[in-house]
Amino acid sequence: MAASNDYLGLSADPRVREAARKAIAEHGTSCSGSRLANGTYTLHLELEERLAAFLHREAAVALSTGFQTNLAVSALLGQDDIVLTDQDNHASLRDAVRLGGAVERVFRHNDTKHLEWLLADTPAGSGVLIVTEGVFSMAGDMCDLPRIAELAGQHGARLMLDCAHDLGVLGAGGRGVPELLGLESSVDLVMTTFSKSLASLGGALAGEADVIDYIRHWASPAVFSASMTPASVAAALKALELVEAEPERRRRVMDNAARLRDGLRGLGYEVGSASTPVVPVHVGDFMTCLRLWRALFDAGVFTGAVIHPAVQHGRELIRISATAAHTDAQLDRIIGAFAEAGTAVGVIGPQGAGR
Ligand code: PMP
Repeated sequence: MAASNDYLGLSADPRVREAARKAIAEHGTSCSGSRLANGTYTLHLELEERLAAFLHREAAVALSTGFQTNLAVSALLGQDDIVLTDQDNHASLRDAVRLGGAVERVFRHNDTKHLEWLLADTPAGSGVLIVTEGVFSMAGDMCDLPRIAELAGQHGARLMLDCAHDLGVLGAGGRGVPELLGLESSVDLVMTTFSKSLASLGGALAGEADVIDYIRHWASPAVFSASMTPASVAAALKALELVEAEPERRRRVMDNAARLRDGLRGLGYEVGSASTPVVPVHVGDFMTCLRLWRALFDAGVFTGAVIHPAVQHGRELIRISATAAHTDAQLDRIIGAFAEAGTAVGVIGPQGAGR
């Protein structure tokens, strides 16, 4: 498995499994109701308090999936608001803007000159929200947070960061890109999902207490959709505890990602250079991408074929990701499969001589 987002390898951890089992024994399998109605248990509140404290935020709200968590941001938007959104932002972020009825202005991926130009072009008096991702899900690169935060400050815009792929992994404490770059106080709203490093299902927004309280009462996913199951909450809570207690998992996943990047580059592949667990292997052509994916699958290695519309035409790639649970032997097997499959499909030369 070279495509999992279980970055810290916690979904198989016996302590996380046991926490989920215990929650089922004590609270049953479902809350059968939304957060606003009957679906808020003490467990949900405990998870929110722990997460808010972990992220150094006033408050947090936990919803049933990461996708729904981003959709919940629509409650903060109105038709006079302008949302400046990175071209490569996740579909849930794009959908939230549409659902909120705000004006969406898309800036070229991580292009802060374009963002600056759009900011200068916003009518005075409109509410402006900049939305981007800490680590981009498909290409694994990091947003240019220092410049984006500076621009947000200069133009009085609010800043939301989706930290789905960096929370738990980046920063000494695992608080993601804002911590890594020393810019936590520049980000107004932090989003994370529980389905990646936190080995569960669900998501959360963390920020100012008033904003979070508003989401709790007005966002459709909080009002009209059943809350996280007790097992999901308990697993996320235990995983969060381990994120804090076992920083060596962060070192391991980063070492594993570096080993994958070095190995594939040595074979002649064009590989992304960002120090994150997501390793994009650029192929650049739809059919070649699918053929390579199939050859890897036949060799027993599961990867992600990232094709349009997940990326633009011509930027097709094979996405692999390292986890802290990969052994050296497994990493070498993945690299070995890329050597054989890439040669067979013609993406790399016979001796790893490059395209
Ligand atoms: N944001 C980003 C950046 C994501 O990559 C994902 C999932 N791929 C989500 C949000 C949605 O999270 P979930 O799958 O937990 O609903």
